[in-house]
Amino acid sequence: MYYIDPHIHMVSRVTDDYETLAKMGCVAMSEPAFWAGFDRGSVDGFRDYFRQLTQFEQKRAGWYHLQHFTWMCINAKEAENVKLSREVIAMIPEFLDQPGVLGIGEIGLNKNTKNESIIFLEHLDLAAKYKEQILIHTPHLEDKYKGTRMIVDMLCDDRRLDHRRVLVDHVEEHTIRLVLEEGFWAGMTLYPTSKCTPDRAVDMIELYGPERLMVNSAGDWGPSKPTAVPDFIMAMRRRGHPESLIRKIVYDNPVEFFSQSRNFNFTPPDAEVATREA
Ligand SMILES: [Zn+2]
Repeated sequence: MYYIDPHIHMVSRVTDDYETLAKMGCVAMSEPAFWAGFDRGSVDGFRDYFRQLTQFEQKRAGWYHLQHFTWMCINAKEAENVKLSREVIAMIPEFLDQPGVLGIGEIGLNKNTKNESIIFLEHLDLAAKYKEQILIHTPHLEDKYKGTRMIVDMLCDDRRLDHRRVLVDHVEEHTIRLVLEEGFWAGMTLYPTSKCTPDRAVDMIELYGPERLMVNSAGDWGPSKPTAVPDFIMAMRRRGHPESLIRKIVYDNPVEFFSQSRNFNFTPPDAEVATREA
């Protein structure tokens, strides 16, 4: 089955992972900007990272006929440095019209601090001014419910934002409802050790239905599995769910959500093959 991984950090993966994903049916991925494993020292460090995301990762994905999309921001961890964050936010518009840039993300909260909230709100303002979509990280370190509640409240307070253009990631059993009830999209992150397992994701689809829901692997620096979405497909099949429902979660929904971005120049897999054969 063709699928899209809507949240995966390919900068932290080797080229062989692109090949494996392509062999497993992945046709596209979206890579939000995040932490580099260390705090960057200057705005130029971020500019170079954004060049890597918008130029080199697209090329690396293309070697395996995968389509790579990305998002720009300073992540919640480094947002504790308000001065640097403001410099990065001022620089982001340089990249918003680059091919494949879908919006602002992954912004959010890490330890639910005041500085993180200040920078989260300034990112929301940037997104509203440039009419960008938003991808959100919800915390795992401190209280996830409290952090998600704070994020949802801040989003709802900004009347300029269209909730159908916001994806809130890393939802779990205790946070999914408040995200969906406000009309946002929700992403379940499948991790081998924490966050959500494929079977728990299937449980949540059985409880809440398939609308505005996606699954992703995150695939970052820690123990994570870039092929977690195929594991989810297998878990859905084991429970007897129809292929059309599985496809909606892993392919149709990401296409529907991303299509709201002006830079989602996606070529569906059959058309991509036809182009190569022409
Ligand atoms: Zn992430």
